[in-house]
Formats: sequence, C-alpha cells, structure tokens
Amino acid sequence: MDLFEYQGKQFFASYDIPVSPGEAVSAVDDAVAAAERIGYPVVVKAQVQVGGRGKAGGIKLADDAASVREHATNILGMDIKGHTVEILWIERASDIAEEYYASFTLDRAAKKHLGMLSAQGGVEIEAVAETDPDAIAKIHVDPVDGLTPEACREWVLAANLNPDVTDGAVDILCKLYRAYTEGDADLVEINPLIVKPDGAVHALDAKVTLDANALFRHPDYEQYDATQVRDEREEAAHEKGLQYVGLDGSVGIIANGAGLAMSTVDVVSQVGGSPANFLDIGGGANADVMAGALEVINNDDKVRSIFINIFGGITRGEEVANGIVQALGRVDISSPIVIRLDGTNADEGRAILAEHASEKLLSEPTMLDAARRAVALAAEGA
Ligand code: GDP
Ligand code: MN
Repeated sequence: MDLFEYQGKQFFASYDIPVSPGEAVSAVDDAVAAAERIGYPVVVKAQVQVGGRGKAGGIKLADDAASVREHATNILGMDIKGHTVEILWIERASDIAEEYYASFTLDRAAKKHLGMLSAQGGVEIEAVAETDPDAIAKIHVDPVDGLTPEACREWVLAANLNPDVTDGAVDILCKLYRAYTEGDADLVEINPLIVKPDGAVHALDAKVTLDANALFRHPDYEQYDATQVRDEREEAAHEKGLQYVGLDGSVGIIANGAGLAMSTVDVVSQVGGSPANFLDIGGGANADVMAGALEVINNDDKVRSIFINIFGGITRGEEVANGIVQALGRVDISSPIVIRLDGTNADEGRAILAEHASEKLLSEPTMLDAARRAVALAAEGA
C-alpha cells in the first residue's frame, strides 16, 4: 500500500517524527482557506504517488493568498508522469539549511533491514548512487536485535552529516526505524530530511509503503487502503477480493498461488508474449472465484487470450476442472483459453476439461507449452 505524502507524514507524526503542520485539500478555495489558517509562507504540494514532483512544477512556495490561489489552480489537475493531481497538501514552509536523505527497506539477500543515509539529499538517490556511491552510508539491521542508539550513532557519523546535528539525526532515525518495523512498512523514505537554520532535524517529504498483509494488525490503515490508486480493472478485482495487478499486455493470466502467478507472468514474457495482468486466485479455485477472475480478465479490452495455470494441491484436479467448467457456463468469454492443469488428480481434471474442449478451450500438458499456445493465440487475435 503506497501512501500519499500527507498520509506518510501523518504516519510519521504518530511515531513522533517532526513534520510540518498542514492540511490536505482538493479545491482551490479550500487551499486558500487552509493557508490562511496555517500562516504564510506555505508550500503548495501536489499529492501523487510518484517522485520528482518538484521538478515537474508540482511543489510551489507561496507568500500570500493570491499566490496560493494561482499555484493551487495550476497544480490541481496537473499530470505528473501519468498521475493526475487531485489532492494538494498545504504546509507551513520551512527554512532549509541542509538537505539529507534517509530510508529503511528490506534487503532480502542479506535477510536484514537496510538503512541508507546521505548528506546529499533532495535529489534522487539513484543519481547519488550512480555518481558518488560512497556518499551513501548503509547500515544492515538484524530484525531480531533491532537498531541500538549506539549503532545508529555510528551510522550517522559514517554519513558525514553536519556534526552539530548528530544527536538530532540519531533521534529521528531511531524513530524512523521504529515506524518502519512497528508500523509494518516495506519502505520508509525521507528525502529531503532537512536541517533547519536552528539545527532542528525535520522530515520535509515522506514516501511510505505499508505491508497490506499487516492490515489486520492496524485497523486504522483502512483509511490508507480507501485511497489506494487503482485502475478500473484493479478496482473490480479488489471488490471481488482477488489478488490482481494490472499490466499492459494481451495475455490474461489466472493462477493459483502468488508464486505460480509470478512464474506464469515470467514464462509468458520469456516466450515472447506480454502479460495483461497478475492474478492469484489462491488455493481454492472454486467456480465462484474462477468466474470472478474470468470476468475481470474478460473486461480488459487488451486481452486476446487467457492462460489458466493451475497446480492442484489440497484442491484436487477434478474440483478445479469442474470449477472452470461451471465458471465458463456463467461468463461469456471473448478470448480463447489455454489451460495447464497439473498436480493432485491432474488426470481426472484433464479428462473433465477434455469433454468440454473446443477451439476456445484448449489444454496443454506443460506450463511452457501452454504459454507458447496462449502467446500464439494472442498474436493471431491482435
Ligand atoms: P519531490 O520533488 O516529489 O521529492 O517533493 P519534495 O517534497 O521532496 O520537494 C521537492 C523540493 O522542494 C525539496 O527538495 C525542497 O528543495 C523544496 N521544498 C519543499 N518544501 C519546502 C519548504 O518548506 N521550504 C523550502 N524552502 N523548500 C521546500
Ligand atoms: Mn522528495
């Protein structure tokens, strides 16, 4: 779950990380009213879930009501890298003495959390990593041991920040680590992490990704879930409780299990096709779920063929096959379907599918064969 900046700052504030006071609005008059309450100067900030808003003209300082009005008018509705601005965050402007970068994310290869800290903030960290990799101080944190204040201090010293702000930086970074772990985040990033002229360390931007699987532990995250940006297909899938991610290609994909769904996306790409989506229907694969999945994929205009990739486990092959057949009776599918069914009772399942075989419903014995067939059919239908 990606948060907007204003939500990220709300999340940070709940862990006592200093952020600027502000208000989220979606109309020009409300922006002006918010600025009047906050006090000038303010910053008018486009809320889109993509970086580089400043460069794109989506972040503007304003000294009075007239300029808030002007900037709010320009920025609302603006397109920033394909994202339309519908929300503005109006916040009290800060004076900046220094701009740093700080983040935590998971380093899967190291099986540890990775903190990154740089005195060269404000710009994209990828650019720093390319031109001056030594300017990024990294720390690996064992998730069991956690981040001790001592280790945090060493990390801060390694980053060569202004020595006057060491204590302030250690304090905010320990809080950031707490927010990251206790808040079940996949990513927390502050760029820039600023030092004000009085030496206070402060989060001027917030990029936060929360683990949607941890929603049950954080009922208040429902508010973030409610504002997730989804395309029409993703919205329809979400309403049906399906694990779906929209992609741009022409081969619709249904698989049971996230790992198998990802492999299916890969194998379709590997044989020269382009996946239209990722869709994991989970272990059950009954007729209801299958019908819902087929509906979502059938409503995607770009889809030219559908690849159903099922590995029977606890759910046996004949149950899955019956589910598919029943689902096909309910949804009028416009594209040809290629099924690969394997695993527990695969033979029984295949026999059921064979009874219903047609030029619109094909079976292939292996994942690779099925991928090739689906990709060829998509090319024919293009
Ligand atoms: P991004 O471009 O999407 O990363 O948006 P940021 O929130 O990081 O803002 C981009 C840049 O705008 C920052 O690096 C700052 O240089 C500038 N900026 C943002 N807020 C303020 C502010 O309160 N005061 C000043 N002086 N500059 C700001
Ligand atoms: Mn930023």
